[in-house]
Amino acid sequence: MKTIEIIKPDDWHVHFRDGEILKAVVPETSKHFTRAIVMPNLMPPVLTGLDALKYKLRIQEAIPQSDSFTPLMTLYLTEKTDLKDLEKSYIEGLVFAAKLYPAGATTNSDSGVKNIKNIMPLLECMSEIGMPLLIHGEVTDKNIDIFDREKIFIDTVLDFICKELPELKITLEHITTKDATSYVKESGKNLSATITPHHLALNRNAIFVGGIKPHYYCLPILKRENHREALVNAATSGNDKFFLGTDTAPHLVDTKENACGCAGVFNSTYSISILAEIFDNKNSIDKLEKFTSLNGAKHYNIPVNSEKIKLVKLNKPVLFRKSLEFKGDKIIIFEPGFPVFWETCC
Ligand SMILES: [Zn+2]
Repeated sequence: MKTIEIIKPDDWHVHFRDGEILKAVVPETSKHFTRAIVMPNLMPPVLTGLDALKYKLRIQEAIPQSDSFTPLMTLYLTEKTDLKDLEKSYIEGLVFAAKLYPAGATTNSDSGVKNIKNIMPLLECMSEIGMPLLIHGEVTDKNIDIFDREKIFIDTVLDFICKELPELKITLEHITTKDATSYVKESGKNLSATITPHHLALNRNAIFVGGIKPHYYCLPILKRENHREALVNAATSGNDKFFLGTDTAPHLVDTKENACGCAGVFNSTYSISILAEIFDNKNSIDKLEKFTSLNGAKHYNIPVNSEKIKLVKLNKPVLFRKSLEFKGDKIIIFEPGFPVFWETCC
């Protein structure tokens, strides 16, 4: 049996949602990760420092006492975001970053930004105070094919922001294309990207082969195999610019298995095991720690975690739990469709 030890990971992109579901989903993250950046797309969104503080307190109540876990809070940028509140909230440590959702890009993003030029004063302020910008990088024009939305966002919006504000620290989140890996690799030092376990594990065939698979439907949507390969190459290369953001997003089973099913994959339970399998299959298990535990902290200029975890490669595949129970309902846990032999232990 092979065993490796790595610094305990951070998750640089999670959705916890709100209310009673926190008690079901927060422990799935706090068990495996020391810190996580928490997305602000609640209904209503996290718009002010006070909203973020209150939400953080609700999350903290859901962390088991045995876990040492820090949620890092974010503000949801809108064209009406109060610049003074944004600045004060960051300087006082209430929030870690601000999130840009193009209006309508994903779950609960209706209040997002319609025209990037309308938030340039906010971005200029963020650049000056060192506050990171997190980006859902897709255009939302309904005339643009869903599989092309990331590339067109990079060409028309991201490139503009990077050129206008080269000192702004930016994370292009949950990248899905070869175009994104190339753009990020060739960009300046302040642009990095997160990659999810499901975009590393699957291509778009997974959604459709043998019947429609709503639990593989997420946004940005899975892409062609050559894009998945580019993501795996970027993640396993050890390049500092790429790190883990699981984008774990809980939805109750009947909102996924539905005539108009929600986008999102709940993957926090086995994300580290799945990543270990993917890295091992690329003969790059030695690069796993950079991706899960080092590169993100470096990008955000914060200390690396001190705790460590062990991963064991079993002789037989890990038996995945199928779902998380929540008030008589279920949240389906992501499984990648191939055997996973790596198991995490403390
Ligand atoms: Zn997300």
